[in-house]
Order: sequence, then C-alpha cells, then structure tokens
Amino acid sequence: MRLMRSTDLALRTLMRLAVVGREAAAPTTREVAADMAVPYTHEAKVVAELQKMGLLEARRGRGGGLALTEAGRGASVGALVRSFEGAGDVVDCEGGTPCPLNSACRLRDALRRAQEAFYASLDPLTVADIVASPTGPLLLGITTRTDD
Ligand code: SF4
Repeated sequence: MRLMRSTDLALRTLMRLAVVGREAAAPTTREVAADMAVPYTHEAKVVAELQKMGLLEARRGRGGGLALTEAGRGASVGALVRSFEGAGDVVDCEGGTPCPLNSACRLRDALRRAQEAFYASLDPLTVADIVASPTGPLLLGITTRTDD
C-alpha cells in the first residue's frame, strides 16, 4: 500500500515540529519545507490542513511560526493516515471500465481487511513515539533552526 505524498508530508511536518524545544524559535512553513526538501506550496497546503485539524498552530508576526499542539503531539499516526488517505479502497473496482468481478469479489473483501489491518497497526503509535531516537536526533541535525 502506497501513501499519498500529502499523507507522508503531514507526518513529516508533525515530526519536524515535535523536536522543536520550548526555548527554540518556531520554524516557519518555508523553513519546514526546506528541511523536508519539499516545495513550499505543497508544505503550505498540508500545514493548512493540519491547522484545521487542530494538530498545529501558526503564530503570525515577528517571532511567529509553526508549533505542535498537545493534540498534535499525542495524535495517532493511524488516525492521521486514515484522515489524509480518505475512505477509498486500495483498488478502484469501478473507475474507468468497471471490473466484471465487481458484484461478487472475494479479493475486494480481503483487500479491505488488509487495508484495515494496515491502519490498525499504526493506530497505537503517536507522533511523539515516532520521533524517539534515532529519528528525533536526526531531525534536529537537519533542521534550519534548533534549540541553540
Ligand atoms: S478483481 Fe475484485 S478487487 Fe480487483 S478490481 Fe475486480 S472487483 Fe475489484
């Protein structure tokens, strides 16, 4: 199963913000985009979505930037992936030319169960969990701003 680019970017963004120390300056959207090696426009769209979900806040003006909320720090990776990926099946059985097995397909049921198992395996993980060592220290090493 392959995640959409926006799903992975949302997770990367939350991970990046999770390693910002309390005393450090909050990174801007442009800085997070540079750190994650993605175009600013893609990052800005994902930041807007995460803000709408209450997982990060964007402070404007001098000294402003992006910060993870408590909800963002404790967010379930599985819930976030479900939310970004949507409710669609992994196979498009009806698009374009509908599949002739569509009305009675055991494979489709099996794929749905496999998809749910995939999400379920990510449900217990939080954003805080996935920035534990060695990922967190690595993230700090590539960021444009640190606790210094
Ligand atoms: S074989 Fe089954 S899962 Fe595959 S496209 Fe056809 S209906 Fe969907």
